[in-house]
Amino acid sequence: MNMPTVVVATGNPGKVQEMNAHLAGLGWNLVLKPQEIDVEETGTTFLENARLKATTVAMATGQWAIADDSGLAVDALGGAPGLYSARYGRDDRARIQRLLGELGDTSHRQAQFVCAIALARPDGTIALDTEGICPGEITMAPQGSGGFGYDPIFYVPALGKTFAEMAPAEKEQCSHRGIAFAQLLPALRDLDL
Ligand code: IMP
Repeated sequence: MNMPTVVVATGNPGKVQEMNAHLAGLGWNLVLKPQEIDVEETGTTFLENARLKATTVAMATGQWAIADDSGLAVDALGGAPGLYSARYGRDDRARIQRLLGELGDTSHRQAQFVCAIALARPDGTIALDTEGICPGEITMAPQGSGGFGYDPIFYVPALGKTFAEMAPAEKEQCSHRGIAFAQLLPALRDLDL
């Protein structure tokens, strides 16, 4: 069987593994982007950044490329940390403390996790893209020990738990990333790479 190579526009081997899990069954050979290709994330939205990363890596390698970009947007903070989610503090703990500190004791705690994914053809044009959104609320204090990042303070009312209190499969079902991949999969299966 022909196994098309798709470059994952990331320097993080963990992300390739995670993509592999979501895209299992497509028969793609996912590979990490070459280190020397650097992409500046200058987009103003998650979708723009995902497209930019996919296009840049596809053009630089001459191969299909897939990219994602994600983060947490808190309504009462005007959408922060948003595109800066990964850089909002020096580590997960500091980022969570900063976010809780800035929100204070306001009862207006609505937020959403967003995950954009884009797939680019070898010439850099975008073949497919999508954005998955998971609405929730920021808790007053961290709850649960699973997951990563902002998971302990992101509460999903429909399930009555934070992301950090969910089993991994449960989080994948309702998360922004799970939703984005589910939206994309039917079209990905129809693509002839
Ligand atoms: P990137 O998409 O790898 O650029 O990073 C997005 C940042 O958003 C991560 O470093 C986390 O801080 C945060 N983030 C994205 N998805 C999740 C999630 O599912 N749980 C917790 N934090 C997340």
